[in-house]
Amino acid sequence: MIGLKEKFVDTVLNLASDEERLVSNLRNIARIGKYIAPATHRDQLQRLEWAVDHDHPAIDLIRRIIREADPHFLRGFVTLFMEHAWAGSKQRKAFEREHGIAPPSFVVISPLAACNLKCVGCYAGAYGHKEPHLSYDDMVKIIEEVRGWGTRFITISGGEPTLYWNRIKDDTKGLRDICREYSDMVFLMYTNGTLIDDRMAAEMAELGNITPAISVEGFKEQTDARRGEGVFERVMQAMDALRAARVFFGASVTYTTQNFDIVSSDEFLDMLIDKGCFYAWYFMYIPVGRSPDISLMITPQQREIMARKTWEWLNSRPIFVADFWNSGPMVKGCIAAGRPNGYLHVTHQGDICPCVFMLYSAHNIHETDSDTPLLDAVKSDFFAMIRKGQLEKENNPLAPCQIVDHPEVLKEAVEKTGARSTQEGQTILTDLHPFIRQRAQEWCQIADRLWTQSGLYKGYAKEYADGRWLLPG
Ligand code: SF4
Repeated sequence: MIGLKEKFVDTVLNLASDEERLVSNLRNIARIGKYIAPATHRDQLQRLEWAVDHDHPAIDLIRRIIREADPHFLRGFVTLFMEHAWAGSKQRKAFEREHGIAPPSFVVISPLAACNLKCVGCYAGAYGHKEPHLSYDDMVKIIEEVRGWGTRFITISGGEPTLYWNRIKDDTKGLRDICREYSDMVFLMYTNGTLIDDRMAAEMAELGNITPAISVEGFKEQTDARRGEGVFERVMQAMDALRAARVFFGASVTYTTQNFDIVSSDEFLDMLIDKGCFYAWYFMYIPVGRSPDISLMITPQQREIMARKTWEWLNSRPIFVADFWNSGPMVKGCIAAGRPNGYLHVTHQGDICPCVFMLYSAHNIHETDSDTPLLDAVKSDFFAMIRKGQLEKENNPLAPCQIVDHPEVLKEAVEKTGARSTQEGQTILTDLHPFIRQRAQEWCQIADRLWTQSGLYKGYAKEYADGRWLLPG
């Protein structure tokens, strides 16, 4: 089987040296892939086959990747798919046999809270440099543990992770060295982009297994108003440097009541495509952490507009667009709490949280002698209650979230298990709770209509028909 796998990767990469040859062979690749891939990966190949048959814009995105990204990235991502499908699949099955639950697919690590900017509403610039941070050895320990589960994908967040690109604070090695050491893994790094210059872009291209997602809040006026004079220009320069170095990169967009009209416009998305972004992650503002501001939270009606917009973009433009909430149908709802094929989050303090927006924890990597602190967290009562809530509450993958759609579930899990807030001054489960519950009810009504009547998600009908998506595993 290993020989077959390597042959398959080589065939795909050989074909990729000629755009037309690759595209005209995509259907065959999907069919052969479906035949030899483990069951867990057949859905993705089925979708690829469907995209070819329907001349979907995803094929134009594949053309863009072949034309604009360095072949290193194609090798990295095809290998990631294959490693995840084969080597990882065996490890995940072994994990499931041993622990009675399939493991999560990835981990988000936030090595630091510090940032070089002082954005309005973000605490990192003001407090971050005084906060603890993860060491190089901490990072390695986390990666080694999840790698043993079959995970080949790591997300790095912050603070501003490029501050640790060359070296992690007092260490001699940095994130760049981690990417180099784990060359068969792929890293997605959320960054404000302002420290990415030609040299860093060239290093990312050479590594071929790291993709930066650069935060953009809108055009110059919106970005500079929130993040400081000149920041938009620096972000544009970073994108130019990445594009010139042929790095596979994208954007990360947080939408609030203040920038909603701009970032939901075609003009904005087309600007991202023109700048060379291959993907855009959209995140609605969630009032967690210190100094939450509910006036920035979009309304349920705006959330519906964004759900429709991301769907429209996905089906009309050569860029992959996903919304962390509204794209729930793609990933079968909430992916938090170490759910099978989901994820968990390790903060800069070492706290292990169910999700980057669920800043509650019952385990910390520094407060245990265990060799498997992440597994301990996955098996904990706190994570188990969140996963139980996912099974019981999620009858609509457009309203999957226990922070904003079913906040009573998170509140009960925190209160019953004694999980603690990882941030001082968090009020999402206290002062803000009645407001969030009210909003949740309004959204759930809209989401039900969208899911059952809009016809937008009919392509998922088969996948969801028998209710099996609610089952763990
Ligand atoms: S808890 Fe909410 S934000 Fe986090 S993964 Fe689940 S749905 Fe997404």
